[in-house]
Amino acid sequence: MYQLIELPYALSALAPVISAKTMEFHHGKHLQAYVDNLNKLLPGSGLDGLPLEDIVRRAPAGAIFNNAGQVLNHNLYFTQFAPCHSERSEESPLFAQIVKQWGSLDAFKSDFESKGTTLFGSGWVWLQADAAGELSIAQYANADNPLPHGYKPLLTFDVWEHAYYLDYQNRRAAHLQALWQIVDWAVVDARYKK
Ligand code: MN
Repeated sequence: MYQLIELPYALSALAPVISAKTMEFHHGKHLQAYVDNLNKLLPGSGLDGLPLEDIVRRAPAGAIFNNAGQVLNHNLYFTQFAPCHSERSEESPLFAQIVKQWGSLDAFKSDFESKGTTLFGSGWVWLQADAAGELSIAQYANADNPLPHGYKPLLTFDVWEHAYYLDYQNRRAAHLQALWQIVDWAVVDARYKK
């Protein structure tokens, strides 16, 4: 049985970037539903008991992939944030690689936001790495994740409307821009090194 991840911060800790109300619905209702659906779908599928990453790599298109993908995507999403104004390092191999490829962190952020804003419909924008450590930004629809495409997932912004509608209504771009205030780069650095 897969479990709903515990948040590493209080529901209100990311406000005003993400309100407690949004966290309550996004984590407590939306993610809980994906976890419950996955637990109902897995028995007899041949994938039951595998790590989520392996299910997402191996499941064919369909309900199991969609629910496992959404659980994994949200686990990566919620654990990459930290309360506003917490200390963040800007010295790491990941930062050096970002500067090498984009010229500056600001140029990278702008590219990432733009790809999140222009992703049509529901999905996720990702910073991903290939086996050589080369970075790229990808738009994946619905529940998709870098893993089945052969990339390592590093950082993701959820552009499903449930992620921002209570706080930002239709202003997706404003939401994406605000999210930088709560990204915990130490977590993203660790994913890059792994
Ligand atoms: Mn979501």
